[in-house]
Amino acid sequence: MSDELVELAKRRGFFFQAAEPYGGVSGFYVYGPQGATLKRNIEDSWRDRFQVEEGHREIDAPTIMPEPVFEASGHLDTFDDMLVECPECGESHRADHLIEDNTGIEDAESFPLDEVGDLIADHDLHCPNCDTPLAGEPVEDFNLMFETDIGPGSGQPGYLRPETAQGIFVEFPRLKEYARNSLPFGTTQIGKAYRNEISPRKSIVRVRELTQAELEHFIDPEEDEPPIERVEDVEVRLYPTPEQNADEGEYIVTTIGEAVEEGIIASDWVAYYVGVAQEWYERIGIDMNRFRFRQHLAGERSHYASDCWDAEGEIDGDWVELAGISDRSDYDLSKHGEYSDDDFTVFRQYDEPKVVERATVEPDMSYLGPEFGGAAGDITDALQTLAERDRSAFDGDEVTVEADGESYTIPIEKTGFSVDEVKESGEHITPHVIEPSIGVDRALYTVLVHSYEQDDVEDETRTRLALEPELAPTTVGVFPLMDKDGMGETARDIAADLRANGFDVTYDDSGNIGRRYRRQDEVGTPFCVTVDYEGLEDDTVTLRERDSTEQVRVAVSDLDDILADLRSGDRAFSNL
Ligand code: ATP
Repeated sequence: MSDELVELAKRRGFFFQAAEPYGGVSGFYVYGPQGATLKRNIEDSWRDRFQVEEGHREIDAPTIMPEPVFEASGHLDTFDDMLVECPECGESHRADHLIEDNTGIEDAESFPLDEVGDLIADHDLHCPNCDTPLAGEPVEDFNLMFETDIGPGSGQPGYLRPETAQGIFVEFPRLKEYARNSLPFGTTQIGKAYRNEISPRKSIVRVRELTQAELEHFIDPEEDEPPIERVEDVEVRLYPTPEQNADEGEYIVTTIGEAVEEGIIASDWVAYYVGVAQEWYERIGIDMNRFRFRQHLAGERSHYASDCWDAEGEIDGDWVELAGISDRSDYDLSKHGEYSDDDFTVFRQYDEPKVVERATVEPDMSYLGPEFGGAAGDITDALQTLAERDRSAFDGDEVTVEADGESYTIPIEKTGFSVDEVKESGEHITPHVIEPSIGVDRALYTVLVHSYEQDDVEDETRTRLALEPELAPTTVGVFPLMDKDGMGETARDIAADLRANGFDVTYDDSGNIGRRYRRQDEVGTPFCVTVDYEGLEDDTVTLRERDSTEQVRVAVSDLDDILADLRSGDRAFSNL
């Protein structure tokens, strides 16, 4: 099924491998004349739902970022997949995928390296390329980031971002200013991310240059609550970890409201975005019988996530991850706060000022200066930090602090240590982040797979993409019955008018009308307009619907409004 779709995608311009004249490179794809529009429509629909409807704002950050960003984010250390190389043909394989594909084991990604090596040996797995046994071959971590040099010469090391999210986190100090320092607020970004996948496969399902649509919703975990009532009745199919671990684990079909009440989804925020995502995937035409949310197993979660649910779509009998909806806690902002010189906190105002005890130091500089010279300033800072963290350190006769990697011992009476009562109006907190991270390429692929249909029309098998009208790359095909007696001119005028009103229109006058309908069915065009002799007389056209193949006659003057309503779903074709 996917093979037929990939063939159609190439033939009709949805997507195809890039740089084919030079042999192509795996993992890089071009979206063609149909695919680029479909992708843009999916992105626009995502923007409508996850950004505009939620009141969030979008940014557009660079795709290359300097090394310290990824030291802080943890990607340099931990953004790895498991690699095993064939000793005979040298082909690289993802070790966990080899296991998942050839044994009944799921989520081998969550196992440690040595266990994965053992499983390869125990199941006597062979190289899929040349059939050489892989038992005993080392299984290693392979970092997926593409490295580059910024600037000439040795330059400054940089990396292509492996997720759009970091471009948002790094700019948090500025973004919080635009949000007037108040939580919650959300920032979105749609853009390219790069992952040097060990073995790209399944066409655009696993690519090395991908498009992500991510929302980072910054919240105060103690004060902010999601508007769960907006999605509480949304029905979802959940596959929580206990069910995955049980021998005969099953899906739970429930509503978001119940999932929260029964604690199936622990975080209200994650549940909220599971509901939003469910609505959105349904809206873009994913088959809800081939869709579920699966909770990550503990070992599978990313280094930053405290809970994560993946949206998964079924393709050729396999479940494919389409999105991750995670609670990233304060991990990212804390890390950037720690590694950079900026402030990644926001000020949480108390309802009423509080009287609190505060420990401070006021060291005797006439002692610290002569005794420790240039280190005196750093020692003062270290003493203050220690006083805030651990007052009991000042209980004895002297106190020891670390500054610039050296230890200094200071008599207590020279530290000026004291505990005083002060009034505080609030405190600095590091926001938590809730993140729905959607893969646009996989959404597009699944939409195509789930809308691919074949049926018999007029004793002929036709292939049809039952795309949602809102998403279809072409909304309407306009044809003259024949390009003669004025029908061609009228059809071209209608096409020009519709284009001027914002519709994506294809004009076609070649071949018989049945063949022209088939061509549009195959690229998912939901409506076709035909100008015939009768129409020339009374200013009407026939309007045909792709899925039912029904036709109605409508006035040319009504065409705009009717098509706009049909595209938005405000009117059903059967009601015309
Ligand atoms: P996988 O386990 O399939 O490698 P992931 O868990 O690493 O994916 P995330 O880091 O959660 O993926 O990225 C969020 C989304 O980005 C995924 O749900 C997926 O839709 C998309 N994505 C990730 N990697 C790729 C890729 N190589 N090609 C296409 N889409 C991808």
